[in-house]
Amino acid sequence: MDIFKGMSLFQFQERFKTDNDCREYLAYYKWKEGFTCTKCSHNDAWNSPSEPFTKICKHCLRPHSATAHTIFHNIKFPLRTAFHIVFEMATTTKSLSALQMARKYDINRKTAWLFMRKYRESLKSSGDYPVDNDGGDSVVYVDEFVVGEYEGGKTGRSNDAKKRKIVMVVEATKRNGIKRVYGLKIKNYSGKELRRIFDKHIALGTEVITDGWKGYNRMDGDYDMIEDKSGMKKNNNPMNRMIQQFKSWIRGVYHKSSHEHIESYLNEFCFRINRSQWKETHFHSAILKGIAHQPFPKKLIPCAV
Ligand SMILES: [Zn+2]
Repeated sequence: MDIFKGMSLFQFQERFKTDNDCREYLAYYKWKEGFTCTKCSHNDAWNSPSEPFTKICKHCLRPHSATAHTIFHNIKFPLRTAFHIVFEMATTTKSLSALQMARKYDINRKTAWLFMRKYRESLKSSGDYPVDNDGGDSVVYVDEFVVGEYEGGKTGRSNDAKKRKIVMVVEATKRNGIKRVYGLKIKNYSGKELRRIFDKHIALGTEVITDGWKGYNRMDGDYDMIEDKSGMKKNNNPMNRMIQQFKSWIRGVYHKSSHEHIESYLNEFCFRINRSQWKETHFHSAILKGIAHQPFPKKLIPCAV
């Protein structure tokens, strides 16, 4: 089955006309490398005679639907609607809020919010390869910033408890083009907290430019830390541009971004930036991430708004 590379809503609607078109797509890519039973780990299955795109384990007879163990499991609206939402979130530069999405697809706002939250969660880029200087072709920046309701244009480190503190890493080309970006919510600006983004996303030994904040001293030795306070403040600085872009997106689309959800918005933002080089497979990558994701119970999501 061909990877769907369409970019327009028209192409999307032509390709996915029914729920079964979506189910077929999920089933194909879910079991492309083979089947493994989630109950007994057996590798052989029959196709269900009664349910389309469902497999039955030959050993324990457990049925496996195309949506089981994906973000599409047990959703309270048609699968095609869920595909629509993923398509919109993956291909448009400015994603809609849950309220806008709910109105557009005539579904409950909470249901829309919950699904979008699960989708963002599935975008966590933990499996991606680490940021580095790409043999001297890339420049890597790390900086921290806050997102709050009343910022008043203030920059730099703020210790206001109401604001969400974020550390971000940007890998840019030498001409200031963006290659990749990752962000993490942090509790404070200590070396220990800042270190988390280095451990998670940056290859050891990478040359990293920061504003010279003392918290970064902790990384000395493991990384080649460079201080460039004035360079970081310039308008065309890639780090600065990403921070401004993230802030204006959050301000424009989401009126509230609580402590609990800021990281999932970061995931979506980073996913969109990081995939922008392969735009035509954007939707497909999003579907693959949705398949790989284990659905989590509602109670684990803090305060569904
Ligand atoms: Zn089994």
